[in-house]
Amino acid sequence: VSEKWELDPEEVTRGEELGSGNFGLVWKGHWRGENVAVKTIREDAMTEEEFKEEAEVMMKLSHPKLVQLYGLCTQRSPICLVFEFLENGCLSDFLRSQRGCLSKDTLLQMCLDVSEAMAYLESSNFIHRDLAARNCLVSKDLIVKVSDFGMTRYVLDDQYRSYTTKFPVKWSSPEVIKFSKFSSKSDVWSYGVLMWEVYSEGKLPYECRSNMEVVESLNAGQRLLQPRLCPETVYQLMQWCWKEKPDDRPSFVLLLHELASLADPMN
Ligand code: ADP
Repeated sequence: VSEKWELDPEEVTRGEELGSGNFGLVWKGHWRGENVAVKTIREDAMTEEEFKEEAEVMMKLSHPKLVQLYGLCTQRSPICLVFEFLENGCLSDFLRSQRGCLSKDTLLQMCLDVSEAMAYLESSNFIHRDLAARNCLVSKDLIVKVSDFGMTRYVLDDQYRSYTTKFPVKWSSPEVIKFSKFSSKSDVWSYGVLMWEVYSEGKLPYECRSNMEVVESLNAGQRLLQPRLCPETVYQLMQWCWKEKPDDRPSFVLLLHELASLADPMN
């Protein structure tokens, strides 16, 4: 085994299919006594060589609110990525399935979990680039963890890359839409949309509008409306995340502190 991130394929077993993602099918599996998610990568789906160079960086990123990458199996085709397994699946589906059942405290805690992971990525100078509820996962104890960080850089799908149908315009900041300028502050914009998804119990943002219409309404200064379950204090944080200028938006460390003080029972 040559690289640090290479896993012995004999140690990775595959069980039921979990779903399909951007790169290929995802399976439940086992590795060294742990439940894992095994993401297989279709041959034409990823810039594999570039990804392998980055894999070492991604494996070193480790935080309780980040979905851990355990390693890669690259000796057989298709190659696969082995991640920590989260029982309750992706956050957007989870929110929809639990409509009316989650307390406001739980919704706030979910936002707080994501802000912790993102404050860690921010301090590691790592940009997520595709933060959204669909890219977070939920554990059996309802802890939310951030997944798929940095992965869009390796997607080989033209529709995804060229700002057309699959590009996540509704989660993207103005400077990303206009100049592809990604930063931790463009992640902060996406995080505001994620908070909106949480408090809307998994609704799609700007549900009935096309990407073009969304861009026009943002340019006209319009923003997503306050969800019914969202307290004014949290909506103010969302609006702060959606400031036109990146410098006017808060950092994740600041957001984390603001949310933590709202979650504090002494408040
Ligand atoms: P991609 O990021 O390549 O688009 P996804 O992350 O959307 O793929 O994976 C597809 C599905 O597989 C998800 O909707 C989720 O239900 C499931 N899944 C992915 N990763 C995990 C994981 N670590 N634990 C549990 N389920 C997972």
